[in-house]
This record gives sequence, structure tokens and C-alpha cells, in this order.
Amino acid sequence: MSSRQRVIIAGAGPVGLMTALGLATQGIPVLVVEQAPALTVDLRAGSYHPPTLEMMAPYGITDRMHETGIRVPIWQIRDRRSNAVAEFDLGLLSDITPYPYRFHLEQHKLTPIIFDFLQKQPTAEVRFGTQFVDVAQEADGVRVTVESDGRQEVIEGAWLIGADGGRSAVRKSQDFEFDGYTWPELFFVISIADDLAQYGYAKNAYIADPDEWIALFKMPGDRPEGMWRVIWPVDPTVPEEVYQRPDEMEGRLQKFQPKPGPYQTLYSSFYRTHQRVATRWRKGRVILAGDAAHLNNPLGAFGLNSGVHDAHNLIEKLGRVWRGENLDLLLGLYERQRRTACVEHVQANSIRNKRLLEEKDPEIRRQRFEELQRTAATPELARDFLLTSSMISSVRRAAAVA
Ligand SMILES: Cc1cc2nc3c(=O)[nH]c(=O)nc-3n(C[C@H](O)[C@H](O)[C@H](O)COP(=O)(O)OP(=O)(O)OC[C@H]3O[C@@H](n4cnc5c(N)ncnc54)[C@H](O)[C@@H]3O)c2cc1C
Repeated sequence: MSSRQRVIIAGAGPVGLMTALGLATQGIPVLVVEQAPALTVDLRAGSYHPPTLEMMAPYGITDRMHETGIRVPIWQIRDRRSNAVAEFDLGLLSDITPYPYRFHLEQHKLTPIIFDFLQKQPTAEVRFGTQFVDVAQEADGVRVTVESDGRQEVIEGAWLIGADGGRSAVRKSQDFEFDGYTWPELFFVISIADDLAQYGYAKNAYIADPDEWIALFKMPGDRPEGMWRVIWPVDPTVPEEVYQRPDEMEGRLQKFQPKPGPYQTLYSSFYRTHQRVATRWRKGRVILAGDAAHLNNPLGAFGLNSGVHDAHNLIEKLGRVWRGENLDLLLGLYERQRRTACVEHVQANSIRNKRLLEEKDPEIRRQRFEELQRTAATPELARDFLLTSSMISSVRRAAAVA
């Protein structure tokens, strides 16, 4: 077999690995190049929606996730000032999904599961410590320059998929436009061992406040009791070390939820977030997926989920192209379907979620919370709301694009 008879994927994050697994399962040779020496210990994502669990289930991934993850059927939107709570129960969707809950598991515990399944595929290869550098496109394939141990090498394939994250070198190498903006604040994540459920917080809660909103996620962590991730917006002009001082973090946590004795802080980290979508997702034989194609703020937990939705869509279409079906038609459809879902749902809803949490006008906040509580208390309204927040509408929207 010619070395062109394979798909090269840049990036062994969740999206690159998922795409590789889906293609290899169809017998298509895949080579994943990952710049890091091993799977990265990524602390970013951790909350998965029902369609994503459904898409990963046929590979056995979802069952494996359930061995250690946490089911979160009930989640909340709260107002920090008035203490108003709107509580949503995903059990309302149990007639349309086998997974009527959000599911919490750290991103760095998902990637080894996918990798484990990928290693069992005879047509799959993953090269760590190998960085994508550049690509030259030819009529029937791609010549990809990679670098490992300071040495450059050219590898050939039929297609190149850029799943190399937000700073995607693949995207830059082909001058894909990446329109959008960067949020001014940093997202500061503090992980704590203390149990916030005892104060009435659901395992996933978004807490609105005009000065300092908060998002909470209960995660498995490395302890049987699990841990909580608490996310806050902070000023990027203040040095990160200031926010990470133990007394600063303790004061911040006590101001949010006073309690006797100090909090047990496990670790903390900062993230810059963006709203950006590539104008094109494919140029010739180079295709983008996941964060390489789109970025959103994490309020709503859409980033990794939508990346897996990209992979799921692309696996099916590229598989058909591989078996001889119309290339332009199918890959054009991939781009249109996923980009539409991304712009109309992922971008729109993540921006709306952030605006809801940071709204400054007290009257607008009051009205919104009344509306949210009415929605949560009315099953038909709650169901519609949940279809959107759980990304089921987004997947349906993509499928409706012809
Ligand atoms: C605070 C925070 C919380 C989040 N929480 C959630 C959540 O709960 N749910 C959710 O759905 N999303 C969440 N996200 C978003 C989620 O983390 C990302 O959408 C997800 O990691 C994207 O996966 P990916 O595989 O596309 O990219 P990445 O995870 O970034 O993986 C890209 C891979 O490519 C490799 N790479 C990069 N450049 C090269 C190169 N030149 N050559 C070879 N390899 C390369 C990298 O090393 C990496 O392994 C969150 C984000 C943040 C910041």
C-alpha cells in the first residue's frame, strides 16, 4: 500500500483521537502526530452532554467513562445576590436519550480511554513527540512536514486533519481565517476537596453575579469523595501569583461560601477564552475539527462536546469518501453542518450563558430569573430549554442542514 493511503491527524487531544478511532474502525489507515511526549494531562474539560455520550458509546468509550465518572441529572442556575435558584432535571429527556444527565469526568481521563481503544486497531498509529510543522497539498494527497527530536521529516497521506487545538498550526499553515474575539477576563479555576453539596449546590451550578459570577462542577478527582472545581472571572492585569496566594484563594472561597475552618485547595489554573469560528473548515485535502476550527467560553460545556460532534460527523463522511463517494459533496456537507451548529448553537448559547451570568442591571436580572424559574417549573418549557442546553438541538440542527 502506498504511504499516501492513510489519513494524517495532527493532535492527540480528544478530537484527534476520536477521529482516528472512528476512521480506523472502518479499516482506514490513520497516523496521529502529537507534539507532546505523551497524552497531555489536560484539566480543562470535564462535563459531557447526552449526544456526546451517545456518539462515543458504540466504541465502548461511554461504558468505560461510567466506571469512574459522575452522573449529574440535576443542575442549577442561581443568583448570587438574591439566592434565587432555577433547577433543571435532565430526567425529563429520558424518553429520548439513554443518558439523561450531564456526565463529569476529567478530559485527561477520557483521552487514555479513547487511546486504549485506538491502540487495538491494526490500522492506527500514534507518534508522540512529533510536531506538525507544515503541509504541501498535491492533487491526490498531502506532504506533511513534521519534527521530532529536532529533525524534520516529510510524511505523506491522502488527507490531513487539523485537530491540534486552539492555536492550530494546521489552521495557520493554510491561512484559514479565524474570526471572532477574545474575552478580556481570565477564567480562574480553583479545585477544592470540600463538599459544596452540603450548602445546596447541585453538582453543576452557574451562579450569576454582576461583579463576579461563579461556575461549579463536581469532578471525580483522585479521591473517592471527588472534588469541586470553582471557576471565576479575574482581571488579567493582576499577576496570577497574586490570585494564587493561599490567603487570597481562601478569602475568595469564604466570601463565596462562608464555612468554619479553611478550605482545602488542591490546585488552581488560569485560562484565556475566546469566541472564534474558522470561516472555512476545509481547504482541499486539509480539514479542521475541534478547537482548531472553533473556540468558545466554557459556560455551558460546549467546546469538547462539539469537537466530538465534529469528529462523529467527519468520521462518517470521510469514510464514505474513502470508499469512493463524492468528495466535494460530502466534505462540503461536513463543513456546512458542523459550522452551522457551531455558529447558531455553540457560539450563540455560550455567549448568552456568559451574558446571563454577568448581567449588571438588577431589573433585567430579576426578570431573567423569574423566567428561568418559570421555565424550570413547567415541564414543556423545561424540556425545550434542556434540549438546547444539552446540545440535542444543536446536533439536530446540524443533521437538518442539506
Ligand atoms: C476552563 C475550561 C473548562 C472547559 N470545560 C469544558 C467542558 O466541561 N466541556 C467541554 O465540552 N469543553 C470544555 N472546555 C473546552 C475543551 O477543553 C476543549 O474544547 C477541548 O480540549 C478541545 O479538544 P481538541 O482535541 O480539539 O483540542 P486539544 O484538547 O487542545 O488537543 C489538541 C492536541 O494537539 C496537540 N498539538 C498542538 N499543536 C500541535 C502540533 N503542531 N503538532 C502536533 N500536535 C499538536 C496538543 O498537544 C494537544 O494534545 C473547557 C475549556 C476551558 C478553558
